[in-house]
Amino acid sequence: MTQSIRIHSAKEYAEAVGPHLAHGTERADDIPKRLLGVACTSCDKRFQISIPEFKGTGDLDAYQAAIEPFKGAEGKKSEA
Ligand SMILES: [Zn+2]
Repeated sequence: MTQSIRIHSAKEYAEAVGPHLAHGTERADDIPKRLLGVACTSCDKRFQISIPEFKGTGDLDAYQAAIEPFKGAEGKKSEA
């Protein structure tokens, strides 16, 4: 069963998702719960953050800055 991990800041979200970019990731949003999510299809893990938490902790700017070190040439295509 997929392990769900709740995250509470945009930076932590990027740091959680980053190591999995090379594994193969897919969007795993939970619209009814208003959660943004990314799942790693290799590790069977799902990382989720609420939209207000994401926006309130730096939003896309913080996410992009924190995810950048994890992106190789390969990682870019799996960017959510
Ligand atoms: Zn993984």
